[in-house]
Amino acid sequence: MSNKTKTNPPTHPIVIEHESHQLAWNRVSKHALEVSKTLKQQGFQAFLVGGCVRDLLLGKTPKDFDVSTNATPQQVRSLFRRSRLVGKRFQIVHVRFGRSELVEVSTFRKSAISQNTGDEIRHSDEGLILRDNLFGTIEEDAFRRDFTINALYYDPSTKRIFDYVGALADLYNRELRCIGDPSIRLREDPVRALRAIRFQAKLGLTLHSSIRAELPLMAAKILSVPPARLFDQMQKMFLSGYGENMWLLLKKTPFLKILFPFTSSDNNLIQKAIRNTDQRVEKDKPITIGFILAALLWEDYSARVVALKEHKKIREARSIAAIETIQDQQKIISIPRRFSAFITEVWLLQPRLEERRKRDINRLFNHRRFRAAYDFLLLRKQSGETGVTDESADWWTKFQESNSVREKIKRPADKKKAKPNNKQS
Ligand code: ATP
Ligand code: MG
Repeated sequence: MSNKTKTNPPTHPIVIEHESHQLAWNRVSKHALEVSKTLKQQGFQAFLVGGCVRDLLLGKTPKDFDVSTNATPQQVRSLFRRSRLVGKRFQIVHVRFGRSELVEVSTFRKSAISQNTGDEIRHSDEGLILRDNLFGTIEEDAFRRDFTINALYYDPSTKRIFDYVGALADLYNRELRCIGDPSIRLREDPVRALRAIRFQAKLGLTLHSSIRAELPLMAAKILSVPPARLFDQMQKMFLSGYGENMWLLLKKTPFLKILFPFTSSDNNLIQKAIRNTDQRVEKDKPITIGFILAALLWEDYSARVVALKEHKKIREARSIAAIETIQDQQKIISIPRRFSAFITEVWLLQPRLEERRKRDINRLFNHRRFRAAYDFLLLRKQSGETGVTDESADWWTKFQESNSVREKIKRPADKKKAKPNNKQS
């Protein structure tokens, strides 16, 4: 049966009219509006939902927009030319706009706790959700979400907000609460506990005591989450502009030792590298999780080099140490190849930057990872690492300055040369 006919109004939401809420509707992406408009024109329900509504109510500009609808993924797919189905456990549709904008459209799904047929949503013996793909109503969709503040629905056509779970009260009190019993909801998916810490870091919320009480147990269960999913979470934690807050909070929980068993919490370099990334996010500069991983694992890598060089040549010791450090971390959080290559290059460039062999200078300067490796060297120096001399970092700073002066001197001359050619053409 088509979902199109299921347009029953929601049962008991609190409805907040346009005049009564502060949602910054002028910050809604025009593409998300377009998607919801198209769905509505076809007779479906369509709401903005989740993080984007939460962030807009807090006056923040969301980084992604999710649309929730009663159209099935296939129906959504057929309405948008530049769309594709993604996900197995949880099928959604990505609708693309321009080069990089993406609107995620998901079909209303049943809540694991409110439904009782028990066959489609399967739990493991540990309470973990194994499959979560049974379509439902908007109300059921609200109750299957993780935290109250993530379950608000905004109808762009009427500018009304629908609140099924007391989200607005929690949002105004700046409190993070699970929908339902945290001991069940967090156990269903321990990633929710990491998300809780992330929302605390991002939005300055207080975790409800019932969530805090569950954190130690959830940390113990976090290794049941596939390494690839933990890698995605790690990117969200450290590349969204509030990484330093995240790091400071994570350090106070048992998650750090379990997710990064080879990392010590009082390492200065890590905090500096994360702060550096936050500053780059702020300035819209390119960032990579490789840089943060290089810092998180640097101490362990360095200790392995020291141990290995007892019975190996130094270059071999470094290569083996890099491979082993990354491999051990990967058992917990996967590190895709392009990032492990980046980390290894940054590490292996460190001694070369410090030694500054005459024959090596130009090769180093033109190396594709020079800039990242130089930044890493600077942070090592600033973090007070023993053995990193002021000399080498300062030397490279001056070297780059003098090279940029040389570049500037060269450029006007190039322009002069170019002019007559332009006239000729
Ligand atoms: P962010 O600001 O990081 O994008 P977000 O809340 O939008 O935060 P997303 O991962 O984009 O996070 O997820 C969108 C929405 O999907 C959430 O707001 C929440 O309603 C729901 N959701 C995401 N992950 C889970 C989960 N593990 N369990 C239950 N609901 C989830
Ligand atoms: Mg989001």
